[in-house]
Amino acid sequence: MSNTIHNCVIIGSGPAGYTAAIYAARANMNPILYTGKEPGGQLMITNDVENYPGYPDGIMGPEMMQDFAKQAERFGTKIIGEMIDKVDFSGPVHKVWSETGEEVHAHSIIIATGASAKWLGLPSEERLMNQGVSACAVCDGFFFRGKDVVVVGGGDTAAEEATYLAKMCPTVHLLVRRDEMRASKIMQERVLRTENLKVHWNTETVEINGEEAVESVTVKNNKSGETSTIQASAFFVAIGHKPNTDIFNPWLDMDDNKYLKTTPGTSYTNVEGVFASGDAQDHVYRQAVTAAGTGCMAALDAERYLAAKGII
Ligand code: NDP
Repeated sequence: MSNTIHNCVIIGSGPAGYTAAIYAARANMNPILYTGKEPGGQLMITNDVENYPGYPDGIMGPEMMQDFAKQAERFGTKIIGEMIDKVDFSGPVHKVWSETGEEVHAHSIIIATGASAKWLGLPSEERLMNQGVSACAVCDGFFFRGKDVVVVGGGDTAAEEATYLAKMCPTVHLLVRRDEMRASKIMQERVLRTENLKVHWNTETVEINGEEAVESVTVKNNKSGETSTIQASAFFVAIGHKPNTDIFNPWLDMDDNKYLKTTPGTSYTNVEGVFASGDAQDHVYRQAVTAAGTGCMAALDAERYLAAKGII
């Protein structure tokens, strides 16, 4: 352990983390950013990003994240390719531990650890990832306009993704594993009202078929045991996300789904000097551009916090 108390440690390397780093570095806060296990975050498993402003021809997710990292480094962010696996927010100086066991101290912490999509766990799902298998209709739906698609899940996310896709796809097949949906009543009504959205109740995915790209999906009715095949060009998994917030328990307030709670309109958590941004605190929008926006907010909040304390 060194005696240095850093001004700002950023945990996470998606759009929120890197944007926080760009702002913090330009404010002379000398930020240190820990990338975590998946440097670049969820965009590293996204092919074309077409909805991030400033890229009129689109950009590959990994390339965009490299650009974010370069921009953060240009202003002096120190990027460390390690995971933070323990924190202690009990004192005025915050402590975090990296996977190597190093103890790091900071006056302010910006959390940008993101969320991870849950997957079914089928080998064909992994094999056809980005070849029609996706966990984000808003990101990838556009590539399948005019084509039939399958969505799996019965919660609000699945309902939202399916109704979104129904605006651009002739038929959307929604696979629900029980005889009812978990989604809110209003979302369920929207699903049932949408004519080109066909709900398959009590239905599980057996296999996603296709050599180079998704061509069809084999499903099984778990009441009758009957299997059948649905022709589709894409398979959207919408069975929930898990925010990467385990290490912040019990220090930070979280909602029932373990998303970090922030004071509305700010990035403040319940602990002074600890700020949260990106998907770790947002289950509603979950876009690269909104994550970047909240990363910017966190850096500005941290800067004001440090200035008010006379630290910078
Ligand atoms: P949820 O956990 O609410 O729902 C997950 C759904 O996926 C459930 O229907 C579940 O089935 C199903 N599921 C889970 N595992 C499997 C599997 N292996 N195979 C097939 N189906 C599976 O997650 P959501 O992402 O939908 O929502 C998370 C939270 O975010 C919720 O609180 C939701 O209300 C909120 N949200 C709000 C929105 C809004 O307000 N606009 C939009 C999106 C989300 P089962 O029911 O059988 O367990």
